[in-house]
This record gives sequence, C-alpha cells and structure tokens, in this order.
Amino acid sequence: RAKAAGGNRYELADADCDARAIARHSLTNGLPAALENGEFFIEYQPLVRLTDGSVRGAEALVRWLHPVHGVLGPDQFIPLAESTGLIVPLGRWVLEEAARQARAWRSEGKCRAPMRVNVNLSPSQLRYPSLVAETVAVLENAGLPPSALCLEVTENALIGADEEELRPLRQLADMGVDIALDDFGTGYSNLSYLRRLPVSTLKLDRSFTRGMQCSPADPVDVKIVEGIVSLAHTLDLSVTVEGVETGTQAEHLRGLGCDTAQGWYYARPGPPERLCASASADASP
Ligand code: C2E
Ligand code: MG
Ligand code: MG
Ligand code: MG
Repeated sequence: RAKAAGGNRYELADADCDARAIARHSLTNGLPAALENGEFFIEYQPLVRLTDGSVRGAEALVRWLHPVHGVLGPDQFIPLAESTGLIVPLGRWVLEEAARQARAWRSEGKCRAPMRVNVNLSPSQLRYPSLVAETVAVLENAGLPPSALCLEVTENALIGADEEELRPLRQLADMGVDIALDDFGTGYSNLSYLRRLPVSTLKLDRSFTRGMQCSPADPVDVKIVEGIVSLAHTLDLSVTVEGVETGTQAEHLRGLGCDTAQGWYYARPGPPERLCASASADASP
C-alpha cells in the first residue's frame, strides 16, 4: 500500500512537472504574438529622493496582460523571453515606450523636476550589437537628453564581463546615460571590481532593506549598509534602496545616507498618470 501511495505521489509530481512544462511552452510560444498584439504594458514605480521626499523618476516594470491567464509579472515571462531571444524586441519596445512616457511627463509639466526613467536590461540585450545605436535613436526620437535615462543591469549580468563586453555600457555612460547596478549585494562579486564598471548608481537589493524593519534596526545589516554607502560615495556612486515598505525602513535608510528609495511605502508600481499625481502631492512642504 505504502508503495502504491508512493507510486501515486510520484505520478502526481510527474504530472505536475509536465503541466508546468506545457504551461511554460505555451507561454513561450505566445510571446511573439503577444508583442504584435500589444498585450504588454508597463507599470511605473516612483524613485524618491530620501532627503526631501521628492519624486525624481520611475522604474519601468513590464507586465503581460495574457488573454487567458490575466496579468503576468516579469518573473513569469522574462526568463522565457530571454531564453528564446524575444527579449531583444520586447526590451526595445519597453525602452521606446518608457522614453515616450518620460517625454510625456516632461511635456505635461505637472512634475516639479524633470522626470527620469529607469529601464531594466537583460544579459542578451547587453550582448546585442545595436544596443548603443538603438538607445541613441530612441532618445533622439523622444527628444530626451541621455541623462533622462537610467539603464539597470544586474550585478550577476556583469560579473566576469571583460572590457570588450563592457564597451557598449561604457559608451552609453560616457554619453551621459546613468547605469545602475541592480540587485546589488546578491552576487558574489569582488567589491574592487566596482571601480572598473561604468556604473553611477548602486541599487541595493531588497534583502538589505528587510533588516531595517524594526527599531533599532538589525545591527549587522546596519553595518553592511553603512559600509556599502561609504564605499559607494567614495567611488562617487549614488545609492538607491529597493523594497522600502515602511516609514521605519525609510528613516533608517535615510539616516544611513542612502540617496534614493523605491518601494510600496511610497507607491506600488502603477499606471504612468499616477507618477505626476504623486509628484504634485509631493509639492507640499
Ligand atoms: P527589479 O528590477 O529588481 O525590480 C524591482 C521589483 O521589486 C519589482 O518586481 C517591483 O514590483 C518589486 N517591488 C518594488 N517595491 C517593492 C516593495 O516595497 N516590496 C516588495 N516586496 N517588492 C517591491 P516586478 O515588477 O515583479 O519585477 C521583477 C523583476 O523583473 C525586476 O526586478 C526586473 O529584474 C525584471 N523586469 C521587470 N521589467 C523588465 C523589463 O522591461 N526588462 C527586463 N529585462 N527585466 C524586467
Ligand atoms: Mg530594476
Ligand atoms: Mg532590483
Ligand atoms: Mg530585485
């Protein structure tokens, strides 16, 4: 009996795996048509300056409004797009759309400061030969200065990259595009490598923000964040913290000298119209 039950369990687990593989397969196959049919959309999450609470810009976060499954988050389809190469046209669309949106925020003039937009780049996009040319073209078409754009690349995508592989990013950085190292602190990188990367911002991973939830904050996390902030500022990098969910966390991180914050405490990712609405709400002293 026990054996039969074990057998069943095995079959169940197996069926489960098959179902997941089939789901993955059908999602993957659906990606090109989804791009053509306009099923992707972008939510924007504000980036807030910690010293005065002002909104400086927003990160573009892509979603898929799937006709059957509803709204899917990037974790459910970006890896599939990455493995099939569709990430290149999808990423191009995100960049164009985000630049158009940044232009609109600037033209509407509802925001106090000129809004900047952050766009995530995946590893294949970094290796795509036309990355620099296309990015320049997108900025020109949108009438945006390079400083209006921040490209976010994960620490893991850059670990081990040699000078040749870093060249496109360096070219963009030299033009004035801000490059942020996303999910910083989750990779196993040698800190000294920071000196050779063309980055201007460290985005501290959410895992560090968690230790700031209580008062007093977790003393080990405090030491780590202090260390990272001081290293970053020494290297002339600014520090953005992600995943700020409470005022307590925001206070701790401000006290530790972090420059910019992003998280549910300020706003969840949402439609673009909300950005300037929160920016003007922000206008109160
Ligand atoms: P990320 O770039 O690190 O983006 C931050 C993620 O944290 C977002 O998840 C955001 O919704 C979530 N988040 C923001 N504030 C909070 C908070 O206070 N608490 C918690 N628990 N979470 C918070 P999301 O939108 O699911 O995106 C996941 C990842 O997908 C992103 O991580 C990014 O790596 C990737 N991604 C999103 N859009 C794109 C894109 O257009 N292209 C590429 N290549 N990757 C993208
Ligand atoms: Mg990001
Ligand atoms: Mg991140
Ligand atoms: Mg992250």
